[in-house]
Amino acid sequence: MNYERLFEDAVAEVRGENRYRVFADLERIAGEFPLARNHGTGPDRVVVWCSNDYLGQGQNPVVIEGAVSAVQRMGAGSGGTRNISGTHHLLVELEGELADLHDKPAALVFTSGYVSNSATLSTLAKLMKDCVIFSDALNHASMIDGIRQSGAEKQIFRHNDMVHLEALLQEQPRDRPKLIAFESVYSMDGDIAPIAEICDLADKYGAMTYLDEVHAVGLYGPRGGGVSQAEGVAHRLTVIEGTLAKAFGCLGGYITGSTALVDAVRSHASGFIFTTSLPPSVVGSALASVRYLKGHEELRQQHQERAQRLKTLLKEAGLPVMPSQTHIVPVLVGCPERARAMTGLLMLDHGIYVQPINYPTVPRGTERLRLTPSPMHNDALMDDLVSALVTVWQQVAREQPKAA
Ligand SMILES: *Cc1c(COP(=O)(O)O)cnc(C)c1O
Repeated sequence: MNYERLFEDAVAEVRGENRYRVFADLERIAGEFPLARNHGTGPDRVVVWCSNDYLGQGQNPVVIEGAVSAVQRMGAGSGGTRNISGTHHLLVELEGELADLHDKPAALVFTSGYVSNSATLSTLAKLMKDCVIFSDALNHASMIDGIRQSGAEKQIFRHNDMVHLEALLQEQPRDRPKLIAFESVYSMDGDIAPIAEICDLADKYGAMTYLDEVHAVGLYGPRGGGVSQAEGVAHRLTVIEGTLAKAFGCLGGYITGSTALVDAVRSHASGFIFTTSLPPSVVGSALASVRYLKGHEELRQQHQERAQRLKTLLKEAGLPVMPSQTHIVPVLVGCPERARAMTGLLMLDHGIYVQPINYPTVPRGTERLRLTPSPMHNDALMDDLVSALVTVWQQVAREQPKAA
């Protein structure tokens, strides 16, 4: 058996489809967000236009101080799993802060948002015998992974399609356990789920709800509790899940919900139990960030204003902005070769870093550039981006006529 050959073939397949991933070797510069040092080819300094650190919180001095003071007081590592010496006090405080953020009785922190989704969904579905899960067609890989791991029956409803969801719910016996899993802000299109309508259906058919607010926490709602908070429906959801790694600018994931549900996940989820807890530096920074964003509504408003302005500028320049209701600004390219050619030119000629988004993150034929303006992307940076995009768009159209 030629094992090396096997791996080479696996990579060749990805290359053949023009979706081989090349990572940008960057070094973010604290205090100069969204600038970064570039260790790859191209200019030494580049402007990052595709970060999920949506508000630049990763470099907020208050957040940095949260990490520095924690590491100095408590050291680098947590020293264990949550059960065996790894529940340091900052984690307890963070869970209290997160439960409060979503007005839920309890919260549980995981090492990432991915783990929080996969561990919680797989555990909940295993705990409910003969459970059936209704999953939005565009749900994130981490939710799909959890649902798969649970072994429960899965029904996929068309993205945000309430008629389809209701039809699927209707087919099931009334007393069968049901869980509806969905997101508030869908990260690649920037659209929003009809949360209240999904809750109505859940009430009507006796289902639990599981909402991933990863791309909304810190960004929506008067205290940053997400779209469910902005719309006043947080109390109707069984579980609200979020990340500390995007708008909060740090690392980690969490769920919030009832005391009994959170205790059950804490007691049964392998992905929670059998891994070392997050270290003091990370938890200290996340705690500072969550607290900070609870009280800084003006950052959320600036963020929305920036996104709106960028959409307007791109449209005025005739670029194909996809319809997004949120801070996410996707520009449709529709072909992996062209998307890669464009982002290559943006980096080399203009010092602008945008990662092309390809299959399997988005469906084939909908390859795109996903722009994420922050409050720190000022008018000058925006004007540079739009004029660079117009230039590379024309260049690539000339050099690579659209493949059939
Ligand atoms: C990024 C993401 C996650 C995973 O969160 P991490 O903290 O990065 O692991 C979960 N759900 C959605 C929708 C995401 O985009």
